[in-house]
Amino acid sequence: MSCKCCEKKISIERPRQCPECGHIFQGNGWDGIDAHWRAKHEAVLPYKEFWESLCKEHKS
Ligand SMILES: [Zn+2]
Ligand SMILES: [Zn+2]
Repeated sequence: MSCKCCEKKISIERPRQCPECGHIFQGNGWDGIDAHWRAKHEAVLPYKEFWESLCKEHKS
């Protein structure tokens, strides 16, 4: 399986990292990804599509 994070060779270990800009999310997961994505990358790819495209390992 492959997703945007896999394509960018982002580790499946935490912390989570934005595959578009490299932003590192504080905490134990994707806290704030929806606001971050909508503010910065919504024009590239709608948030809903980005989120649904994540593989099981990166989504958790
Ligand atoms: Zn992945
Ligand atoms: Zn980003």
